[in-house]
Amino acid sequence: MTDLDAAQTGDLPLPEGRGDAVTPEAKTLPRMKSTGKPRIVGLTRDELPAALIAMGCPDRQVKMRVGQIWQWLYARGVTEFDQMTNLSKAFRTELAEHFRLDRPEIVTRQVSADGTRKYLLRIDGGHEVEAVYIPEENRGTLCVSSQVGCTLNCTFCHTGTQTLVRNLTAGEIVDQILVCRDDLDEWPNAGGRPPEKRLLSNIVLMGMGEPLYNTGNVRDAMKIAMDGEGIAISRRRITLSTSGVVPEIERAGNEIGTLLAISLHATTDEVRNTLVPINKKWNIARLIQACRDYPRLSNSERITFEYVMLKDVNDSDADARRLVQLIAGIPAKINLIPFNPWPGAPYERSDWARIEAFADIVNRAGYASPVRTPRGQDIMAACGQLKSATERARKTRAQIAVEAGLA
Ligand code: SAH
Ligand code: SF4
Repeated sequence: MTDLDAAQTGDLPLPEGRGDAVTPEAKTLPRMKSTGKPRIVGLTRDELPAALIAMGCPDRQVKMRVGQIWQWLYARGVTEFDQMTNLSKAFRTELAEHFRLDRPEIVTRQVSADGTRKYLLRIDGGHEVEAVYIPEENRGTLCVSSQVGCTLNCTFCHTGTQTLVRNLTAGEIVDQILVCRDDLDEWPNAGGRPPEKRLLSNIVLMGMGEPLYNTGNVRDAMKIAMDGEGIAISRRRITLSTSGVVPEIERAGNEIGTLLAISLHATTDEVRNTLVPINKKWNIARLIQACRDYPRLSNSERITFEYVMLKDVNDSDADARRLVQLIAGIPAKINLIPFNPWPGAPYERSDWARIEAFADIVNRAGYASPVRTPRGQDIMAACGQLKSATERARKTRAQIAVEAGLA
């Protein structure tokens, strides 16, 4: 097991408020001392030249070398410096002396009856994260994690019950994409194909963790994913989902620029405080205002409001009507997510008839309201079910019920 690379990991940059009532028992994993070499995957277009210069690469060669290395890493998906055959042997050896280029260990790879693939990856420090690939007719979406666990404790979410948390580095986020392309055998140069012909064509930041508690690393990783000379997935094929870290939403729009999804899940502060406790810090009114102010918001770049359907909790006709009033005027679609149960969950999924009635009201108000088909349920890969089974520190069933106000 290797130590974390401190240079790439950084401190967990949680905004003020960490440790208050919103995140009562999350423990951040200690930052470990770096002993190993830095990883080359995850260095940005700005960082890679500096790293090469520090390694002794002559200034006049840097630009060309960055271009070559970038192509090998992200257009061809090589896993060893020796495969970079247009670089001199001496330079390849030097790179290998200074950097690592190994993939994270794939602990398990499960394939669902519906084709969904779930990868459990072991990252530095021995921690585990999950990524889920969802094939559809005209696209293939990779659901990417941004943290190990999550500090936010949403009461309907399995990930939120995992108490150990650490931010993923940009490289660890990019790795999930590389591992999936390896598994799909979609090298070399997948980015050169038209998106609709690619197996991995879309990314959603909807795996484990709150991306806007790790905004800088998510930004760097998505910049690498969007880069036209490498992975080449366009900005408009990437969706970042947040539970509502209001001060970071505008920054995400400016610095990352992907599509935005908001985990709304309730139409009154009273209910949302229970379901999504970060609401106590930034309430519905502030969240909706941040959506109205989101850069580039337009009919072609609508915000997705995610709404998990919980029986008798947030699924009434009155909720549906309040929902459309709340978001009036925002170019939006509403994604209804039937609750995916997990062991010990204190909620039930709304009945299909109820979900349909709710969708109908939203539809009649002029909003598309697709009901998200649960995918990969047989392998616990559906929304909100992700949690590495081997993480030992977890909440008890009683703790979960208390937080949900059910005990
Ligand atoms: N932390 C971010 C992104 C990850 S969660 C966020 O909360 O937005 C991705 C989506 O799955 C969110 O909308 C989340 O609320 C939803 N989700 C979580 N648990 C769920 C469950 N058990 N059933 C259905 N959806 C769930
Ligand atoms: Fe974290 Fe999102 Fe789960 Fe809430 S729903 S606990 S923010 S991963």
